[in-house]
Amino acid sequence: MVGEREFTGRTGLVTGGSRGIGRAICQKLARSGAQVAINYVSNTAAAEQTRQLIADEGGVGRIYQADVSDDAQVSQMFDAVESEMGSVDLLVTNAGIASVTDSVTMGVKTWNEIMRTNLDGTFYQVWRAKDGMMERSFGRIVCISSVLGIIPNPISPERLIAYGTSKSGVIGFVRNCAVAFGPHVRVNGVAPGWIDTEMTEGVSEEARQRLVAATPLKRVGKTSEIAELVCFLLSEKSSFTTGQTHVASGGLGTLP
Ligand code: NDP
Repeated sequence: MVGEREFTGRTGLVTGGSRGIGRAICQKLARSGAQVAINYVSNTAAAEQTRQLIADEGGVGRIYQADVSDDAQVSQMFDAVESEMGSVDLLVTNAGIASVTDSVTMGVKTWNEIMRTNLDGTFYQVWRAKDGMMERSFGRIVCISSVLGIIPNPISPERLIAYGTSKSGVIGFVRNCAVAFGPHVRVNGVAPGWIDTEMTEGVSEEARQRLVAATPLKRVGKTSEIAELVCFLLSEKSSFTTGQTHVASGGLGTLP
C-alpha cells in the first residue's frame, strides 16, 4: 500500500511501541524508511526487542521510556527524541490501557487511570508535537482509538465503559485538531476491532468467539493490518484525508 521507502528522512515516534499494535507500527515505519522512536512505560525488555527486530532488518530505532499519562514525562521524551533523532514528523499516539476493573461497579480510581492514559495522554503527546509541526509546515499524526469508541461493548455491555468513553474522546479530539492544525498538519484516527495482543489475552475464549461471530469478516484482526492502515494515513497516499477516524474491525460496529 505504502511505497517501500515512503518515510526516508523522517522521524516517527510511536508511543506504546514495545508490544502489540505499537510494535507492528514501529516495524512498518522502519521498513518504510523512517527512523523510529519507540516509547514504552515499563517493559524495557519488550521495547529492546522491538528495537532489535528493526535493527535486524537494517532499520534505525531508539527506545524512550516515558509514562504518557504524565505531561512532564511526555515533554522530556520529546526533548530527548528531538536532540537524538531530530524533529518528530510522524506521531502515532498508540499507548493505551484497558482494565478488568472497568465495569458498572468501577470506582473513580479506575475511571481516572483510563482517562489519564488513553485520553489525557493523547492530548499531552499531540500538544507537545503540534507547535514544531506547524512551524515546520509538516506533520502527520495518527491517534489510535477503538471500535468501542464508536459502539458500546457488544459482548459485555457492562464492561469497558471508561475505556469506550476514552476512545470516543480520542475521535472528537482528532476531528478538532485536524481543523485547528491545518493546512500542513494532518490528524487522523484508527479505530481497531479485536486484535490479538497482550491487551486481549485475558478475555475468555467464549467472549472471543462471540465477537468473531458478530464480525462480518468472521475473524479477529492482525497487528500488521492496523500498522498498514496507520502508515497509509501517515503517508502521502492519503494526502487529502484529515480529521477522520478509520475503522478496521472486520466490519464490526460499522453496520446498522
Ligand atoms: P498492549 O497491551 O499489547 O500494549 C500496550 C502498549 O502501551 C505497551 O507498549 C505498553 O508499554 C504501552 N503503554 C501502556 N501504558 C502506557 C503509558 N502510561 N505510557 C506509555 N506507554 C504505555 O496493547 P495493544 O497493542 O493491544 O493496544 C495498542 C493500542 O490499540 C491501545 O491504545 C489500545 O487501546 C488500542 N486498541 C487495541 C485493540 C485490541 O484488540 N488489542 C482494539 C482497539 C484498540 P509497556 O510494554 O512498557 O507496558
